[in-house]
Amino acid sequence: MKVFTVDVSKCNGCYNCQLACKDEHSGNDWSPYAKPQPETGQFWLRVRDFPQGTVPKVRIHYVAEMCNHCANAACLAACPNGAVYRREDGLVLIDPAKCVGCGACAVACPYDAVFYNEELKICQKCTGCAHLLDNGFALPRCVDACPTEAISFAEESELSGFIVGADVRLPETGLRPRVYYRNIPGYFVAGTVYDPVEKEVATGAAVRLTNGGKTLHAVTDEYGDFWFNDLRPGRYELIVEAAGFEYLAIDGIDASSGSVNLGDLALRKKQ
Ligand code: SF4
Ligand code: SF4
Ligand code: SF4
Repeated sequence: MKVFTVDVSKCNGCYNCQLACKDEHSGNDWSPYAKPQPETGQFWLRVRDFPQGTVPKVRIHYVAEMCNHCANAACLAACPNGAVYRREDGLVLIDPAKCVGCGACAVACPYDAVFYNEELKICQKCTGCAHLLDNGFALPRCVDACPTEAISFAEESELSGFIVGADVRLPETGLRPRVYYRNIPGYFVAGTVYDPVEKEVATGAAVRLTNGGKTLHAVTDEYGDFWFNDLRPGRYELIVEAAGFEYLAIDGIDASSGSVNLGDLALRKKQ
């Protein structure tokens, strides 16, 4: 069975994969695999951006998303016309000759991976570029176009090292998606520590971040900055200690739904 893998840490957000997919399928009739994708209004592969934090402590990562060619494909089960089928290599396709455009597959898919073609009155989606694979090409266009090799496509057994422990989108759906993701960054808590009297940043201050009995440690850098990366969602407590200054504590840092930039944190000199 073929699978896709996406190493999010290698993706620089160049959108080459999204554009390559568009170029491959828009204006090209690859029947019986797929009819042309409309020129506008849809991308069978979308690169989503995830900005985190607030200026100046902002980080962004990108995630390429397409049809997951699910092992328990909801689209396939929902189609009343037998238009959605699975190939021996695991790819799930919509037969444009059988599709009547009822949209049942699109409604059933929790990944929004199916698109309606207004002009042709059919539903369409990523084909895994099966037309290329069946004609001597080793890779789908999106994979071939990625300059950083963030996306891979191969037999499941060849990519097993990546797949073990990898994430899938919406695992709770039970559809057993076959696009695997690794290195999706967790949230961060960051800030800058400074001395308001001397009007200078505090370097070398000890910073502790605590959640559920677990404590992480950091030291402010030459800009007075600290970063705690790859955090699980939750509420945190922060403590800053610096020689000659009073202890600074911040409770209830809410990183349950996103990263937190605590901004500039002023220390008070010990009396
Ligand atoms: S992601 Fe959606 S369209 Fe693709 S196989 Fe799964 S259920 Fe079907
Ligand atoms: S495999 Fe082909 S159809 Fe699917 S997202 Fe990549 S380029 Fe598009
Ligand atoms: S082509 Fe590769 S690096 Fe560029 S956006 Fe797509 S996955 Fe990321």
